Amino acid sequence: MATLIRNAQVWDGTGAAPFAGDVLIEGDRIRQLQRGSGPRATGDLAVIDALGMTLMPGLVEGHAHLSFCGATKNTDLGDIPPEEHVIETLHNAKKLLDAGFTSAYSAASAKLRLDVVVRNEVNSGRSPGPRIRAASPEITVTGGLGDENRQHLMRDSFAIVADGPQGIVRAVRTCIREGVDNIKLNISGDDFVPAKGGMTVMREEEVRIACEVAHSYGRRVSSHSRAGNAVTRAVTCGVDVIYHCELADDEALDLLEAARDRVFVGPAIGLIHNTLYEAESFGITRAMAIDLGMQRCIESSQRTYEQMRKRGIRVVIGGDYGFAWTPQGTNARDIEHFVKIFGYSPSEALQCATRIGGELMGLPVGTVKEGQLADLLVVDGNPLQDVRVLQDSSRLKLIMKGGAAHKNTIAEAAAGRERRAA
Ligand SMILES: [Zn+2]
Repeated sequence: MATLIRNAQVWDGTGAAPFAGDVLIEGDRIRQLQRGSGPRATGDLAVIDALGMTLMPGLVEGHAHLSFCGATKNTDLGDIPPEEHVIETLHNAKKLLDAGFTSAYSAASAKLRLDVVVRNEVNSGRSPGPRIRAASPEITVTGGLGDENRQHLMRDSFAIVADGPQGIVRAVRTCIREGVDNIKLNISGDDFVPAKGGMTVMREEEVRIACEVAHSYGRRVSSHSRAGNAVTRAVTCGVDVIYHCELADDEALDLLEAARDRVFVGPAIGLIHNTLYEAESFGITRAMAIDLGMQRCIESSQRTYEQMRKRGIRVVIGGDYGFAWTPQGTNARDIEHFVKIFGYSPSEALQCATRIGGELMGLPVGTVKEGQLADLLVVDGNPLQDVRVLQDSSRLKLIMKGGAAHKNTIAEAAAGRERRAA
């Protein structure tokens, strides 16, 4: 079955200016991309008139937590029984696709097999969801971010606690045995736990051996690295995707720039923003958020990501969506944060959400080009003028993944236009 999308304004994800064109899709791929009026509709060809709306690549969530389902604290995620947790995670996968995210690179699964089973379920075609790169839980050292145990009380969160090279090797191999695509390491902490964001608590030999083991199985490694030292350690030990990084000093930035063809970074700014401005009704006042270091984090992120942009370091969107005040499905807000907080142009921010995300996925997605997988959106509005149009799912008239429409309301849009014209 082939589909021809005619009369579209094509933004291809590369940063080139949009152009009027047609896209021919055969099977799961983009077969032909034509400026102006393209291939004639013949035979067994479904034709979609895009009414001059924007056609662009499906969005890529670069820091997904599909199994985070409205938590207000870390132990909430440990308290959910596994059966309910699978169902919640599957629902979240659909929410992301409904919001235009056709790919999701996971930055940690709350329990070991949640990302894995949901990835497999989506890949089987039975349940809707984005393409998923499944992550391990966050591997953390005793007393690190995610270790919620106390001497008198064992509590789960989203972490696996492991210490020393031997313990880390065992944790990494176990996660790989259970089917993850990438390993998450908490190299630094966070200001709301005893291991602070400015601390680099996972030892160099632990990080190095985790990367060696993961890479020997062909898996990727990502890290939680706030402190400058934690960024430096991640780059020098071979981590592939380095999250947060707001305290990166000149040494860390130089290393990132030198490794920019190998590594990706992601600020995960959505959670910081919402904790500061939108968490009152969950009991976190502005004063509390400032006390937790959220204001400071935004300011240091602003400084650091201006440098990231200027140095051509590949940055992906994704803001820790999945907490109570960062609901799943609102992930496109990160694109606006890149523009408003970090000073990216709309085109640059949209490339972070598409082309660069595609490179992170390691799949032929994220651009509209011949031969790429047909993961496409048709949007009523111009995201290059206002990136916020992507936050309104009613404006996503077509959501296509691998050539198959997950949603298509273009006919209704056409009928609406005719009514308005009459
Ligand atoms: Zn995260």
